[in-house]
Amino acid sequence: AFNADVVPQAPEDALFGLMAAYRRDEDPNKVDLGIGAYRDNNAKPWVLPVVKKADEILRKDPDLNHEYLPIAGLPAFTAASQKLILGGDSPAIGEKRVTSLQTISGTGAVHLGALFLSKFYQPTTDRLVYFSDPTWPNHFQIFSNVGLAYKTYPYFDKQTKGLAFDGFLDTIQSAPEGSIIVLHACAHNPTGVDLTQEQWKKIAGVIRSKKHFPFFDTAYQGFASGDLAKDGWAIRYFVEQGFELCIAQSYAKNFGLYGERAGCFHFVTSPAFDAESTVTRVASQLAILQRSEISNPPAYGARIASTVLNDTELFAEWEDNLRTMSGRIIDMRKALRGKLEELGTPGKWNHITEQIGMFSFTGLSEQQVLKLREDSHVYMTKNGRISMAGLNTNNVDYFAKAVDKAVR
Ligand code: PLP
Repeated sequence: AFNADVVPQAPEDALFGLMAAYRRDEDPNKVDLGIGAYRDNNAKPWVLPVVKKADEILRKDPDLNHEYLPIAGLPAFTAASQKLILGGDSPAIGEKRVTSLQTISGTGAVHLGALFLSKFYQPTTDRLVYFSDPTWPNHFQIFSNVGLAYKTYPYFDKQTKGLAFDGFLDTIQSAPEGSIIVLHACAHNPTGVDLTQEQWKKIAGVIRSKKHFPFFDTAYQGFASGDLAKDGWAIRYFVEQGFELCIAQSYAKNFGLYGERAGCFHFVTSPAFDAESTVTRVASQLAILQRSEISNPPAYGARIASTVLNDTELFAEWEDNLRTMSGRIIDMRKALRGKLEELGTPGKWNHITEQIGMFSFTGLSEQQVLKLREDSHVYMTKNGRISMAGLNTNNVDYFAKAVDKAVR
């Protein structure tokens, strides 16, 4: 018989534990720089105006019901998602080399991809997945849950607080042929450090020569630079180069649809005479996996995103909303760096403005992070990552002074 007494206590999820500690703190100056969710200048969640509009449109629809979606999700949503990430004129779409399933946000897309690879990916060597060091911690759990072994490639250079490019390149060069390489498309979590286009090209060259399989995780398209094409560049480049790859796409951050769990998984096959047949077979297997896991995805978030993505005017308004979010974050980067430099805080702070997206890897040590929490009621993860969206014109001074005190 099953003896539940043998189940060991699992550690608390670090990030969600941090959120709980923040909520318990009664200090009026407390600052939450933990979770990666956008906040407006008043530290409040922001419902994108375009999402409000889409919501109103949907609610007025007399035919709206709560029926099941198809297994692969809402067709108008998955088709628009392909165009968004690959570009409307992508030959891969034209040549029917892409199959897409709506998923439980980005997490579900990563999981579906990992599960699919665990069943069907057969390189000639032992299968290994490579993650950046560091990466979004959930990558480790998701891939090991489906039985795939992993290693890491160097990514963050502690000295420069920039990219450890040589180590990255060398490691994937010496990785066993046919390894799965997980890549953050833009706004790398947790470091905020991205590759330049030249660096992407070199990485693509090694991935090709080693016959590796690229797995893109894109959770911040449009949210990083404010420009959808720019943030999607790496993926479009790889597809242009004819790679077979998969993409896990999230709408949590760029639509502010965190809790609605809207996302999409795409499998793109390389150009070949039977590409369409390959994609059809891949799609049939993905459908079976999806069916056994979630049956069919949740409807509402996908309906909202789809309403916006498929309407020219709403789409333009969304791009404007994206510029509001990314612009505020970029302003906060400038303000924080400016304050620290003004205070003469020991160390260099140029990386704060050079990094991009939701997060910054500050370089603060675990000890300094704990000191900030104790002395100044500032909450951030122990690795020194801050969510830039938690800063605003009301608390950036306070935070800079707190950092100054903690590092001296
Ligand atoms: N991948 C990365 C790199 C992320 O940073 C996140 C969110 O923080 C996700 C995937 C998935 O998020 P969600 O499941 O909320 O879409």
